[in-house]
Amino acid sequence: MATTLTTLAYLVASVLFILALRGLSHPETSRQGNVYGMIGMGIAVVATLLKPGMSAGGIALILLAVAIGGSIGTYIATRIQMTALPQLVAAFHSLVGMAAVFVAAAAFYAPESFGIGVRGNIKASSLVEMSLGLAIGAITFSGSVIAFAKLDGRMSGAPILFGGQHWLNLGLGILLLVLIIAFVGTGNGALFWIIAILAFALGFLLIIPIGGADMPVVVSMLNSYSGWAAAGIGFTIGNLLLIITGALVGAAGAILSYIMCKGMNRSIINVLLGGFGTDSGAAAAAGAGDRGPVKAGSPEDAAFIMKNASKIIVVPGYGMAVAQAQQVLREMADLLKKEGVEVKYAIHPVAGRMPGHMNVLLAEANVPYDEVFELEEINPEFADADVAYVIGANDVTNPAAKTDPASPIYGMPILDVERAKTVFFVKRGMASGYAGVENELFFRPNTMMLFGDAKKVTQEIVQALQK
Ligand code: NDP
Repeated sequence: MATTLTTLAYLVASVLFILALRGLSHPETSRQGNVYGMIGMGIAVVATLLKPGMSAGGIALILLAVAIGGSIGTYIATRIQMTALPQLVAAFHSLVGMAAVFVAAAAFYAPESFGIGVRGNIKASSLVEMSLGLAIGAITFSGSVIAFAKLDGRMSGAPILFGGQHWLNLGLGILLLVLIIAFVGTGNGALFWIIAILAFALGFLLIIPIGGADMPVVVSMLNSYSGWAAAGIGFTIGNLLLIITGALVGAAGAILSYIMCKGMNRSIINVLLGGFGTDSGAAAAAGAGDRGPVKAGSPEDAAFIMKNASKIIVVPGYGMAVAQAQQVLREMADLLKKEGVEVKYAIHPVAGRMPGHMNVLLAEANVPYDEVFELEEINPEFADADVAYVIGANDVTNPAAKTDPASPIYGMPILDVERAKTVFFVKRGMASGYAGVENELFFRPNTMMLFGDAKKVTQEIVQALQK
């Protein structure tokens, strides 16, 4: 009876997780989705603690671990800057990977506790699950550590390339498979650790050649790996819910990676193999050079031009997130709308530093959803816009993506802001964006630079509009 109740609770939790994913697919329903996810996880944890056969000592240990991990997680989550979320996510993925390695080791050395056989005589099917969990977990761990270091600026975001890299990775991948087969056949302890070391090395080697512009896809792909690693743990400890949840995360991460690749016009294989089609030397030099003077304007100039416009498209980017300018941006839009100006927002799929970054910030500032448009929808509209107000965005507007095959962002679809009559770039200086490529739009005759912090400049425009 108790087992049936656990199964039922797990089923309810699984349905709630699926509803959570569905809710998270749109900004309007994402809060609801989060609530479903939290309720589902609450049910899952309680059902696991009340599972038949759980000892009081076991429950105490789990609660202690939840209290320690939960406190650390809460502390970090409340202090983290929104702009540092991608590296935090990468760091958390590394923990999932490491957990999978630990569970595999525990199952290997204490199989009796997992009901999968006795030491030296573990069921073959369990050895398969264990070794896959171990390998995927180790790859996720070291890959995520490198992704964290790159995103956090602790190592260069540029691709690290060397001759024969892809052949080496392929060779290591095949060797890993052969070793897993040998391990399943023999249950040998030395092989267990060789698989672990090889998988750690492979995770490291797979992520180092991936360059800055492709990092968003990598974060999402590592998310997927961490899901599969969790599913692996689920098989090892015989927990159905962990298998379902892991598979959901794994599949959702893989689909998101695919969608992002499509958004950036990149082949997923190229991204995953890393460094394909990138030439770091050319990339660094791409777009550099003396292009002459730029035209800088004041917030008052911008306010005057915008007040007299009939259509404005706002393009938010990473700098808006850094400056936390979303609220004042909405105030500016409200004032302009009162003047009869049509205001729309254009969202590039990789604007900011994580998928959906801009949507979340605009939603936080209560920007109406029907004013927010995806790249394909809004691009044709720039031609009849009077102003493109580019606030803290750079790479996502850079035409080098269309014209310069040597550029690291070549092939990525961009927002065609240059078609607007006037383009304002709100940024602090002439620095390039995440991909490290200069943006020739700054030098175009229809561009006006509004130098300064995004929030401050927009605030000053608001003041000028109120005069
Ligand atoms: P970019 O990184 O291209 O440009 C952001 C610009 O914001 C910079 O040029 C910077 O210029 C400016 N800026 C920084 N701080 C401020 C501030 N306080 N006020 C005003 N401006 C500021 O951002 P985009 O959003 O255009 O493009 C995203 C890039 O990030 C892409 O290359 C994408 O591949 C990558 N990426 C995206 C991820 C995702 O999932 N969305 C994840 C990881 C990477 P200045 O210093 O002169 O002010």
